[in-house]
Parts: sequence; C-alpha cells; structure tokens
Amino acid sequence: MTCPEPPAALAARRYLSWNDLTRARHGGRVQKISVAAGFTCPNRDGSKGRGGCTFCNNQGFVPGYLRECNDDIGLQINTGMRFLQRRYPETRRWLAYFQAYSNTYADLARLRLAYETALAHPGIDGLVIGTRPDCVADELLDYLHELSQRAIIELELGIESTDDATLARINRGHDFACSADAVRRAAARGLPVTGHLIFGLPGESRESMLAGAASLSALPLAALKCHQLQIVKGTQLANDWRRDPATVPVLDSETYLQLLADFLERLRPDIAIQRVGSEVPPALRLAPASSTRLAQLAPRLTATLAARNSWQGKYWRQ
Ligand code: SF4
Repeated sequence: MTCPEPPAALAARRYLSWNDLTRARHGGRVQKISVAAGFTCPNRDGSKGRGGCTFCNNQGFVPGYLRECNDDIGLQINTGMRFLQRRYPETRRWLAYFQAYSNTYADLARLRLAYETALAHPGIDGLVIGTRPDCVADELLDYLHELSQRAIIELELGIESTDDATLARINRGHDFACSADAVRRAAARGLPVTGHLIFGLPGESRESMLAGAASLSALPLAALKCHQLQIVKGTQLANDWRRDPATVPVLDSETYLQLLADFLERLRPDIAIQRVGSEVPPALRLAPASSTRLAQLAPRLTATLAARNSWQGKYWRQ
C-alpha cells in the first residue's frame, strides 16, 4: 500500500533536497569552493587502467577562477571565496571541495598535507572529498573519521552505474560490488557518503536504472548526485559519437526528467538528492545540442513528480 500524500519532509519539492537539509542544519547556505591539489587518477596513469572513463574530461569540472592559481590551496580558497562571496553573500559555512580527478589517490602523508592545508584556512569549516570507490583504503577512512571529529567531512564516490556491464563498457575499472563495499566501510566510520550517478550511459536501460534504485537504497548512502549523460569534447565518448552518433544516444531533458522521476519513486526516501543534473560549459559540450539550465531542472523535476501525484520513495520497498 502507498500513502496518498508525500511525507511532510518531502512536501515542497517531492524529493529530499540535500541543500534544504544542510541549510536547516547549519542555519544558512553551505558553499563549496573547488580546490585542485594536483592529484591524478589511477584509471589514467596505468595503475588501474589507461585512457580514463570514456565520459571524462576533467576540464568540465574546473571552475574558471581556479586556472590562475597553480597548486596553491590557500590561494585557490582565497580566490574562490572572493568570487563566490559576491555571488552568495548569505553563505554561512565554507567547505573546500577536492573535486577533479581522484582526491584520495596519493600516499597518506601527501593527502594529510593537502587536507590539513585547506582546513587551516580560517574561513574553511570542512572538506568534501571526491574520489573513486577503489581508492579508499581503511587507513584513509580511519584518518577521515579522526578529522570528522573537528571538521565537517563528506566523501563523494563515483559510483556512476550499478550495472557491471555498463561499468566495463565505460572503462570504469571497478564494479558495483567495489562501490557498495566502499560506501559501507565509510558509513561504518560515521562518514556521510554521496554517490555520483550518471543516467543514460551506453548499455544502460530504464530497467537497469530502476534496478539500480533498489541496489542503492540498500546501501548506507547519505546522498546522491544525479547527472544526465552529456558528450564532452576530449573524451572517448566524443570520438564514438563523432564516428556514429547512434552508438551514443543522449537523453533529451524531458526523457531524462521522466526517468529520474521513475528512479526517485523507487529510491529510499531518506537518501538526500544533492544534484538533479549537470551543466557542461557549452564550449565543451558536443551533445545534446542544447541543454536545460541547471536552475530549471529542479523545478521541472518537482512539477513532473507533482503531475504524477508522486514523490521520492513512493514505490520503495525495504
Ligand atoms: S571520471 Fe574520475 S576515475 Fe574516471 S577517468 Fe575521470 S578522474 Fe579518473
């Protein structure tokens, strides 16, 4: 049996918004500042694979204000903070966001130096660390647990898909069992884990995405970031798309939103949603030809769910 109305926590948006939760928890906006610490990626340097994931071009993740700062983390934070303060003057807390490449892929001494340099900045309240699920050794998680006793520490793991055939096809270099294990080990240490997920990867189907909602719901995830596949210049997918666009179909925004709504209906209702899409800079995007602005996707998702009289978790079964 399903309830006729969304639970109170979901009423406004019909899905659980991470931003709403963090605003309530911290009494205002929590803003991430991207920092680039010069780490690399084991799926590019040969230790896990070569060539990287077929969708990846890290230029798509690097904000313009970072390009002038080299690897100086303090300078990056100052520059980012100045830029973002003008845009979001109401910000109450700042988190240093280790986003591009794999930000746990180095020896622990180097990681400590990078993280603690960021935490030593007087304006920084915590860290968000993005990485691959096969780069989170227990020793690192123990250290992050220690850090979490004095700062906000969030881990972001690139799950991307729950379907092993798709993960192999995009040259991801790990399977879903690896992601599930990493989420469980991090959560066991009290670390909030956000998973990244891409909708519409080659080989993925509506059925595999909806099965993924059940698999992800069974994990101790705090949040998910959902992205629609976009073909970015400088990637293997871009080469495939140029050769034959039919081999890399991309979802139009309406199809994506309907699929995302289907997915959310089957997702555990206490997994917060940090993102409902992504916006690749037009200069880097090959397909789709036009893209819905990120700011418009969230209200359109709520409208899609409302039109169905539906909400996150409506069809979730434990
Ligand atoms: S998506 Fe992440 S893991 Fe994959 S190639 Fe890019 S940096 Fe490496």
